[in-house]
Amino acid sequence: MCSPCFCCDAMLGGLARWLRLAGFDTTLPASQSDRELEQVARAERRWLLTRDRALAAHAGPRVLCIQSLAVPEQVGEVCRRLRLRADPARFFTRCSRCNGRLAPLGREDAQGLVPPYVGTHVSDFSRCEGCGQVYWPGSHHGRIRARLVEYFLCESG
Ligand SMILES: [Zn+2]
Repeated sequence: MCSPCFCCDAMLGGLARWLRLAGFDTTLPASQSDRELEQVARAERRWLLTRDRALAAHAGPRVLCIQSLAVPEQVGEVCRRLRLRADPARFFTRCSRCNGRLAPLGREDAQGLVPPYVGTHVSDFSRCEGCGQVYWPGSHHGRIRARLVEYFLCESG
């Protein structure tokens, strides 16, 4: 079974970011009406995630009405209700800004795109195929990974 894709409403930008960090294809359409959101989600076969009960009530079968305000609990809601389990091998495979796929970027090619110190000390880069953002395992990488494990894999019950 392939992993689900998501479409978040504008209230769920934080959740969208963490779903992307965990490797899930997650769109966050800007300034769209409920009707448009619903149509995009349906056309692209995405689960619509929304905090809007009215929208959730008429948006069809693939919709989750998210109750929590805090991102960790929101992730928990999605995981529980879809029996979702993230795959650590897919962590950091999507751009948290735009949802683009990340492709490996050679050290040579990264020069000039990253701060000089990083260019000389890091060898493992990736680049977003969508927006061009360059990523590398920096000092915050371990903390983000720990939070991904906590949010997506340490679910009790
Ligand atoms: Zn991007």
